[in-house]
Amino acid sequence: MKLDGERLAALFTTLCEIDSPSRRESRVAAFLRDLFAREFQEAMVSEDQSGAATGSDSGNLLVRFEGALPLAPVFFCCHMDTVQPGEGVRVRRGGALFTSGGETVLGGDDKSGIAALIEVMRTLRDASQPHGPVEFVFTTCEEIGLLGAKHFDPSRLRASMGYALDSTGTNQVIIGAPAANKIEATIKGLAAHAGLNPEKGIDAIRLAAAAVAAMPLGRLDEESTANVGLISGGTATNIVPEAVSIKGEVRSHDEAKLEQYTRRMEGLFTDVVAGWRDPAGLITARPSLAFEVYRDYPALRLTREDEVVRRVEAASGRLGRQLSHIVSGGGSDANIFNGYGLKTAILGTGMQKVHTTSEQISLDDMLQTAALVYMLIS
Ligand SMILES: [Zn+2]
Repeated sequence: MKLDGERLAALFTTLCEIDSPSRRESRVAAFLRDLFAREFQEAMVSEDQSGAATGSDSGNLLVRFEGALPLAPVFFCCHMDTVQPGEGVRVRRGGALFTSGGETVLGGDDKSGIAALIEVMRTLRDASQPHGPVEFVFTTCEEIGLLGAKHFDPSRLRASMGYALDSTGTNQVIIGAPAANKIEATIKGLAAHAGLNPEKGIDAIRLAAAAVAAMPLGRLDEESTANVGLISGGTATNIVPEAVSIKGEVRSHDEAKLEQYTRRMEGLFTDVVAGWRDPAGLITARPSLAFEVYRDYPALRLTREDEVVRRVEAASGRLGRQLSHIVSGGGSDANIFNGYGLKTAILGTGMQKVHTTSEQISLDDMLQTAALVYMLIS
């Protein structure tokens, strides 16, 4: 296996310097379509129509290589978008370490994965080395709610298992990630002048505060968390607030617990609203509650017996490396693909300090990632 470090470094730098904040991935998508068309005649590249649903100027890209080896097909997914600040990225390189200029993220999350995949295909091509059937899914809008993956049609894939190259660390495979619900509670009270006749108002903020104060938040048990992250309500300091909206989330590796904790949140809001009493007896109205639950993403749950895990362990073993098995607390495109019934594990690319302007990655780690992909498909 003759991976070309400098070629990988050059491609990685080019990809990072093509800005692609979420919903504006089209320039990176065009670059990739052009690269595959120019360099790999056998690759079939297609873009879906998900942009209409995600609001992106690009769809998800699917790249398929038929391959000559009789291996089970696998797919790899990476997202094309980056978080902000991600415009005007200029890559700095010191030895083997890549950083941004400090004003923006680097975008190695997730362009390190894309670059590693292409380096593998170039290496196989140059050595005329046969490989198994492989598909790449390059998604949009991962960072703003996994939107590209959520609007991807999984029947377009031939592979029934795959790997997301989208995590910190190397030599580790993520085999568990929680399911998540988003919640939105809106409490309606009654507005009144706060100085002249406050007893004619129903204070929506105070009701919400009582519910949130009673709520178990943070780490709920070893596999569940909850958070209230947004609150907005009221109109002026001299008006008893008529409405307040609370947004939060619950995550758990266990679907039953996820349901139970979500219902407990709802129950606390319901109890507070139902328990409201009018101390002055001047109001005929009552407060009301609207409580919505949105399934954000399903759980990722793999075992060491799953073919997708066994295959990457074998590939790693051929490189003389030991893989560690990780359970993560985050959600990613891999959760969505698992929800489609496609067993999908997450592999690290070596990206570090992601979602900060100090983001960095080393060429050595990207080469390690590429070597593992090479072993997975050849
Ligand atoms: Zn990512």
